[in-house]
Amino acid sequence: MTTIVGDGPLSGAMRRWAAIVLASLVLTVPVAPAASAQIGQPDIIQEHWYHSYATLTLDVNAWADDYPEIVNLLVVGQTEMGRNLWMLQISDWSLESKPDGTPKEVVYIDGGHHGNEHLGTELAFLVAEFYIEGWGDGEQEVLDVLATTELHILIMLNADGNDFDTRWNVNQVDLNRNYDHYWNTCPTTQPGSSAFSESETHANSIYMNEVVPHADLYITMHTGVWIMLYPWGKWPEQPSDWELFHFIRDDVHANISDIPIRNANQGLYPNCGTSRDYGYGVMGYPTFTFETDDEQWLLGTVEALSERLGEELEVMNYLIENVWYWRARLVVDSLEVEDGKVHLSVSNLGRASTSNATLVYLDEDGENWAPGGQTSLDPWYWPSCGGWDFNFSIPGCGFGVNATNSTVTTLDFGGAPISGEGQFYLVYQKRVIDSSMFVQDLVNESVVQKKAGGSGLLPAPSMLLVFVAFALAAINSRNRKFE
Ligand SMILES: [Zn+2]
Repeated sequence: MTTIVGDGPLSGAMRRWAAIVLASLVLTVPVAPAASAQIGQPDIIQEHWYHSYATLTLDVNAWADDYPEIVNLLVVGQTEMGRNLWMLQISDWSLESKPDGTPKEVVYIDGGHHGNEHLGTELAFLVAEFYIEGWGDGEQEVLDVLATTELHILIMLNADGNDFDTRWNVNQVDLNRNYDHYWNTCPTTQPGSSAFSESETHANSIYMNEVVPHADLYITMHTGVWIMLYPWGKWPEQPSDWELFHFIRDDVHANISDIPIRNANQGLYPNCGTSRDYGYGVMGYPTFTFETDDEQWLLGTVEALSERLGEELEVMNYLIENVWYWRARLVVDSLEVEDGKVHLSVSNLGRASTSNATLVYLDEDGENWAPGGQTSLDPWYWPSCGGWDFNFSIPGCGFGVNATNSTVTTLDFGGAPISGEGQFYLVYQKRVIDSSMFVQDLVNESVVQKKAGGSGLLPAPSMLLVFVAFALAAINSRNRKFE
């Protein structure tokens, strides 16, 4: 029998065999009924038998029943054959935000693109189980994560292929070549008739875009060669956020596991239209394909799964617990206003660089000012900083900060009235990749100093809370692209 390695294509004979088996199963196997059971599988079964769609349905519904305070169970689409795509949303839902009032971190995980890669699917299951049952056991590490983080986990994307033990979906499409990022531009197999032609990948992309566009980590689970792959699959070059990926690689190797961590194109082979490249290139997420070693074509494992995949789970816990660091995190150390210029010192507490950062000043009348002049923010327009396409690299307009580094810069606001009682916002891109999201953070007033006409430093203006609330509402309503 042909052995399948990694994401390698099936041989022609294997494809024909899979097609024949699939065709016969389509005729004889009923689609599993919707969940109605109240209990999940016993642990001894979970630990040694790979999930079918039916047993997964039992288990995720049992979690939702047993832990309603942390588990939201959603159906976010159907497979081509009508099986539900179960989405687990796991967090301490009694807390709307983190204890400091900022939004929770968001982690997105999926498994089971390839229906015969059961250990990868089980790793997605084990991650969910670790946090759900750890909550039940009162484990402090888990309580801390769920107080500050939302986990969104779709364990089995290709439920049709999973139950037929085949790589493909029912249309004989490789779902991990069906994403809308350089779709069908590599020597590839069975990418589908067009990007997102398949209901499974289409549903996954809708969830990414509509529910978790803010995620700062996306892990997609596969089985084959024991390796973690970061972008790109399309190109051999390192991604623009190589500092972040290399930091994670070195930290994992120093403290947790020797699992190889490489650019996918070089670590495996060129591949296009993958969820990993889509997640990074279109969504702007830091993304890994996590490949467990191969145990395809078996129904279960002798060694308990939680032990078999213990090291992989540790790596996942590390990535999840440190998600706060997987972007640029700018903090203003000092901000001095002098003669229409701002002298700025900024530190980056995150492990990702940003090359597109600037300041925006919201004055008392609700007008926005940026280096180069007044702006509406929607759309952006700065006359002397690139016009409609604000150019952060023009001196005085914007700046960049390397990962875990600091920078000092001067921004030229021209004649803008920035000495008043308005507020400064840092506006910056979370990572270097073009697709990564912009964020805006209010600059802490305590670091702001204003010099008026050489007469010395004035204290920072004190602001009424009601004005701050008004200002925030104003900038939010004007500036949805930054939410
Ligand atoms: Zn795979």
